Amino acid sequence: MKKNIAVIRGDGIGPEIVGEALKVLDKTAELFGHSFSYTDVDMGGCAIDKWGDPLPEEMLKKCVESDSVLLGAVGGDKWNNVPGNMRPEKGLLRLRAGMGVYSNNRPAKIWSQLASASPLKKSIVDKGIDFIIVRELIGGVYFGEHKTDEKDGEKVAVDTMSYSESEIERIGRIGFETARKRNKKLCSVEKSNVLDCSRLWKKVMHELAEEYPDVELTDMLVDNCAMQIVKNPAQFDVIVTENMFGDILSDEASMITGSIGMIPSSSLGSTSCGLYEPIHGSAPDIAGMDIANPIGTILSAAMMLRYSFDMPAEADCIENAVSAVLDEGYRTADIMPAEAADYKKVGCSEMGALILSHLERK
Ligand code: NAD
Repeated sequence: MKKNIAVIRGDGIGPEIVGEALKVLDKTAELFGHSFSYTDVDMGGCAIDKWGDPLPEEMLKKCVESDSVLLGAVGGDKWNNVPGNMRPEKGLLRLRAGMGVYSNNRPAKIWSQLASASPLKKSIVDKGIDFIIVRELIGGVYFGEHKTDEKDGEKVAVDTMSYSESEIERIGRIGFETARKRNKKLCSVEKSNVLDCSRLWKKVMHELAEEYPDVELTDMLVDNCAMQIVKNPAQFDVIVTENMFGDILSDEASMITGSIGMIPSSSLGSTSCGLYEPIHGSAPDIAGMDIANPIGTILSAAMMLRYSFDMPAEADCIENAVSAVLDEGYRTADIMPAEAADYKKVGCSEMGALILSHLERK
């Protein structure tokens, strides 16, 4: 099968981790007789430096015309003082909106080899952590009006949150459909005791539930959910929530599984062209040091094969190689246990090379 992948290396550790993922994709294509071509796309700080814009229109076009997009990460201190609408992260928001991806799916699954890396007590981890957060991606407060005015001699900032019934319904459906393929438990997370957006959210979710009688729907307030994720994560199967709540909860969920460097994500809309990226940022503190964990990006590439290219055997091949390398005790610094006697510390490129060498077609 031939596929064209738009590749956004981005800033900070982005180029290092994406480089390793592309090697893994190439070897997988070779093993399974596919042909992947890559179109380089500038986005983020590097695009501001080169083009004066975090995502020039022609770059967005390359993404929309591709079969899917693989992204490292964007941003960094260098661009902290550029105007808000020109910040690197604006490129990412515009990319998501331009691709029409409205659902971000983040697995929070503990790898058995990394159970000791979880900051939670062993008694909690032993009950199992395996849930998905389905986050609405292109609505809510991040896409509302932002303004700062002067009032009574001081600055007043306003950010507006809005959700329509149809926006809630389409993400709600992804939540129900995802739960249907898993353990049929969907937890809808909102703040309906305070926000109108959340009251509408809850109403639409319950209307939708009538179409999915096989899925058990529960409601949870976002503050309670933040507590329950650390108290009893085993209770969750699928969580569906709006943009900002999902942003925060999915970072919390990633920490309880061990390392932010391990977690992939997919963003999907109504076509098979998806956006695949690790959940972490550009980690400027470790950029260029060859110590970043490339696994989140490599697993994002595996998700692309599974969800956008319908290549489950190829995705399994990559995930099995990651698992085999972890079994052999290789760890990047972020997942290295304190008692390191049985483990071998490796850098970004060495971790990539190890995964590459464990790829095999079964
Ligand atoms: P971050 O995720 O970049 O880093 C947080 C911490 O995790 C750092 O200590 C970092 O070294 C570590 N870390 C992250 N990824 C790692 C990896 N693969 N391997 C090992 N350690 C890793 O978050 P931040 O520091 O808050 O943000 C840095 C920049 O990234 C900011 O400019 C932010 O806006 C941007 N950002 C971009 C995205 C994106 O591109 N999708 C997402 C979040 C943040």
